[in-house]
Amino acid sequence: MRTVLTASRLFTPDRILDRPVVVVEDGVIASLASQSHSELPPGRHVELPESTLIPALFDVHIHGSGGHDVMEATGTALNHIGSFLARRGVGAYCATTVTAPLDSLLRSLTGLAQLLRSPLDGARPVGIHLEGPFLSPHKRGAHAESQLLEPSVALFDRLWQAAEANIRVMTIAPELPGAEETIAHAAKLGVRVSLGHSDADAHAARRGVLAGAVTATHTFNAMRRFDHRDPGLLGEVLTNDNLFAEIISDGLHVAPTIVRLFWKAKGSERALLVTDAMAGTGMPDGSYWLGELEVRVKNGRAIIGEETLAGSTLTLDRAVRNFVDFTGASLAESVALATRNPARMIGLDAEIGTLTPGRSADIAVLSPKNEVIETFLAGEPQLVPSTQGYLNG
Ligand SMILES: [Zn+2]
Repeated sequence: MRTVLTASRLFTPDRILDRPVVVVEDGVIASLASQSHSELPPGRHVELPESTLIPALFDVHIHGSGGHDVMEATGTALNHIGSFLARRGVGAYCATTVTAPLDSLLRSLTGLAQLLRSPLDGARPVGIHLEGPFLSPHKRGAHAESQLLEPSVALFDRLWQAAEANIRVMTIAPELPGAEETIAHAAKLGVRVSLGHSDADAHAARRGVLAGAVTATHTFNAMRRFDHRDPGLLGEVLTNDNLFAEIISDGLHVAPTIVRLFWKAKGSERALLVTDAMAGTGMPDGSYWLGELEVRVKNGRAIIGEETLAGSTLTLDRAVRNFVDFTGASLAESVALATRNPARMIGLDAEIGTLTPGRSADIAVLSPKNEVIETFLAGEPQLVPSTQGYLNG
């Protein structure tokens, strides 16, 4: 089947096309071009005259949404999460675990590995982001202190085997005993090692990078405070042009001015937008699970205890809009931080993150206010049933 999408503009995101015509055949992008005066090719025509087409978003740090947490590791949970994310423009994500008792964590990893092989609704989990247990007790955030573990190759291998080699990102504090060997070992297996939840000084941070780390977890959050005489991990993250780095641009985790500083430091090739979203995202205020932690959501803040932020209720489309507002970056630049850059960081840039002929037609549609009004995954609309709405022909 052939579908022909027309819109106001399209971001690949490396290129901007005005009045784009996207031809989708059997779920794959067959061609991309600006509209000429010649007639549109035959097929099912979808006219989106006010809209911007962008690649479906990719979140490499997300715990849950829509009332469910990935550590439930059931088809029901992942279908709920995937459907919710698809309605918010997300096409792919890394199912992110939190620190839990080791047997629970192993059980979740085993369950997730099975689910990654199964057909699921909506946004596709492309792998697992292991956030914990190799974190600093001094910068643990919401992670349970009693369940943090010292990194070792042997322990990593147990997790890796339970996950059937589906761990694509691992957050680790590089200053912990055993961290360097574990980082080097994981990196050799293709894991993208992310420095975070860390009290590392500059020296330990550098050693983590030399061991093989390539990115940083929610920059500024759960890191040693930046000090001009003790720059710590932040000094390394903000000045090393080879390192990718995540940021949570919800206006709560990091002040807008600091998001601007982050943008100046990391720039268009290395900055990554993530949500760190938890089960309460898209849900009313109340209590939700983050792994085995009970988290309260009040006025959009997810907290444990009196004030410790425990994930966010941010969605990635909102993160992109916030980033534009906070930094003055263009929409196309900001979209790249939630599409192309995470795909490059994780090594999936030959499959996802850009709109390119020959790839799956995973396309988010933005309104003039940059809100998601439709998402196509493999060419299939996720919001508006294809028999109504804007469809013609
Ligand atoms: Zn997280």
